[in-house]
Amino acid sequence: MSSPRVETISVGDWQVVAIEERRFGMDGGSMFGVVPRLLWSRKITPDEENRVPMRANIFLVRTGDANVLLDTGLGNCLAPMDRKIYAPTGESTLEDSLAALGLSVDEITHVILTHLHTDHSNGVFSGNPDRPDLRFPRAQHFVQSDEWDDAMHPDERSAPVYHIERFTRLMDSGRLTLLQGDQQVMHGISVAKTGGHTRGHQGVRVTSAGDRFFYYADIVPTRFHLKGPWVSALDLYPVDTMKAKRALLSECCDTDTVLGLCHDTEVMMARIVRHEKWMDAVPVDSVPVPVVR
Ligand SMILES: [Zn+2]
Repeated sequence: MSSPRVETISVGDWQVVAIEERRFGMDGGSMFGVVPRLLWSRKITPDEENRVPMRANIFLVRTGDANVLLDTGLGNCLAPMDRKIYAPTGESTLEDSLAALGLSVDEITHVILTHLHTDHSNGVFSGNPDRPDLRFPRAQHFVQSDEWDDAMHPDERSAPVYHIERFTRLMDSGRLTLLQGDQQVMHGISVAKTGGHTRGHQGVRVTSAGDRFFYYADIVPTRFHLKGPWVSALDLYPVDTMKAKRALLSECCDTDTVLGLCHDTEVMMARIVRHEKWMDAVPVDSVPVPVVR
């Protein structure tokens, strides 16, 4: 398999690194919700099982003092059921990507999780899925309190993508901070609660020396999700997703903000450009980092 993509950009005085954590597949119908297959399959070709290729792209903010990871991808701590749901290919390559940046898992200081679905949060763990270790043992982890509550009390629909036993391990470690709505995590990095995809889904806003980078995860997972109604069928509150997306994309356009895309196979970081009737995600110029595997 080819090496994972790792790309850096400068955001003010800081660096933001986009890291392809893992490749997986998702049912095309799930990914595009009410949009007919006839329309979405013109943009992204499904395989014989109707799965479309996805990436778990995660982001690392390097401030000089802190190494802040935004989501963690699927990781390697997967049970057979997780593999069935996400159809991952290969293994998680995050350690290799960090090594290419001269970092180890011990040097991650903060982990901000947009929500607790397996494809965003399971990379928090390593080892045996039944008795996992923390993959970033020195990091403080940040989650919205509502997201935590919902993950701890899943229903029939959410249970397959929330792992109570694993998250209990995180809670017991004392390395978890629950956030209440919009909050600052550190100077220049804050979260904005969006709801939509899940009730406690949050976006991350990074500002340094007047430059901005936003990561709103499943509010705009790929460049194909820019249009209002192109919302994943997995979203629990699709109308809230549309509302959050509208505000986010306008703000990105108006303020020249770079947006990170969590599941796009080609574009990891983009500027949003407004045309008369539609919006476009234009890839930013980034510096590729070669990863040795
Ligand atoms: Zn996702």
